[in-house]
Amino acid sequence: MQDLELTNLVVKVNKNDNVAVAINEIKKGTEITEGLIANNDIPRAHKIALEDIKKGEKIVRYGVNLGFAVCDIKKGDWINEFMVKLPPAPPVDDMEYGININVNLPKPTQKTFEGYKNPKGGYAGTRNILAISTTVQCVTGVLNVAVKKMKEELLPLYPNVDDIVPINHAYGCGVAIKAREAHIPIRALKNLVHNPNFGGEIMLVGLGCEKLTVDMLLEQGDINENNVIILQKEKGFDAMINSLMKMAEEKLKVLNKRKRETLPLSELCIGMQCGGSDAFSGVTANPAAGYASDMLVSAGATVMFSEVTEVRDGVEYIAHRCLDKESRDKLAKEMKWYDNYLLDGEVDRSANPTPGNKEGGLSNIVEKAMGSIAKSGSAPIIQVLSPGERPTKKGLIYAATPASDIVCGPSQLASGITLQVFMTGMGTPYGLAAAPVIKVSSNNSIKNMWSDLIDINAGPIATGEKTIEEVGTELFDKIIAVASGKEETFAEKYKLHNDLCIFNPAPIT
Ligand code: CA
Repeated sequence: MQDLELTNLVVKVNKNDNVAVAINEIKKGTEITEGLIANNDIPRAHKIALEDIKKGEKIVRYGVNLGFAVCDIKKGDWINEFMVKLPPAPPVDDMEYGININVNLPKPTQKTFEGYKNPKGGYAGTRNILAISTTVQCVTGVLNVAVKKMKEELLPLYPNVDDIVPINHAYGCGVAIKAREAHIPIRALKNLVHNPNFGGEIMLVGLGCEKLTVDMLLEQGDINENNVIILQKEKGFDAMINSLMKMAEEKLKVLNKRKRETLPLSELCIGMQCGGSDAFSGVTANPAAGYASDMLVSAGATVMFSEVTEVRDGVEYIAHRCLDKESRDKLAKEMKWYDNYLLDGEVDRSANPTPGNKEGGLSNIVEKAMGSIAKSGSAPIIQVLSPGERPTKKGLIYAATPASDIVCGPSQLASGITLQVFMTGMGTPYGLAAAPVIKVSSNNSIKNMWSDLIDINAGPIATGEKTIEEVGTELFDKIIAVASGKEETFAEKYKLHNDLCIFNPAPIT
């Protein structure tokens, strides 16, 4: 898809494009290339017309139609969001699949990492965490007091354990537990209990009268007094704290015996997402992430990418890379489900780009989607998952989740990621408590401003100082170093932990 052409001032992505993107602000009257003069001030990351575009004609970037010109546009004009009419969403029925299967993936620089093997199999952990699951928000106050005490009094005694993380959430009671879509939040919470970073240890705290009962989250064999505390059975606050401390100590003793060992990358499962995107995200950070993803997949690792509204407009490109009919059909099913979900709320996909995205030069969801998909690289798609579902195959996976950063995060954690790579253009301090988050900036400005928050800068791709392959390899090496516990990310260093916002499309009562 990419065929980068650079000048000092603009970047053009595909040879068929009739627009380019300004690397920095371009003043009116500036000669960009011979015969191309800016007719207006062009804000940084915004589009400039490379030729005359008549009203109704296509505006092309990434080689695809971003939309139709709502007025005559002259060569050298600034193209803002109001000049582009959104084309209809591509159909999802009968999409072709298996016609773009790339088997020549870039070679990984290494094939192993240092991870925590899990007793019950499955993916290995990148961190060694005691997670305390909950059935309901009602227990959060008590649990948070207990966790603070555990971190002060217990955690220092068990140096091989990285952290104690309460899995607090807003679901569990006051919800229509039998509603058609209630299985979505329940599945996410059930699968979250078993994230590979938690070492197979189970600790669940319930209140006692909530709708989400213990048996909905745990297997029958795991429901016993070694794993479950029900606050209504405790004789007051002190008793609650004592029980929680006691159980946590037993779990910490077991987790403390975990040791990192050299493991094949086939035991690593990571997620990719972006947030606060700009027009560079699809040219720099996301393609570099895609390159790193291809290296990981070629080494046998599992990589998930997500964000339904941000692939919807490029869904046929995803379908072409699906290995089999089953994946293609599941992809179509998830897209249709989301179309209907948005329709129920009387919105459509045009609700996605944020004011910040638009300020960052992204005119509409087609442009955002084409940039967003780049993070999936070029590997074949081996499986498609519903939100929070667990994979059964290894390789590149499309995990259908909302694009919302704080909802995509816990959904991917439920699907089993042990590390997330997060691309940003406008900047966000996003982080997860249960897994390290590596932040990749799409432009030099945000890296310069937030040098102590951005882990990898893909900005030099837009200025021609580095290639996608170079930044992609740098990111791959960073992923392995962080996964192996040899480096920590800025989000980890400062403990930037967003809430776990579990996707709940079902009614609340
Ligand atoms: Ca996102």
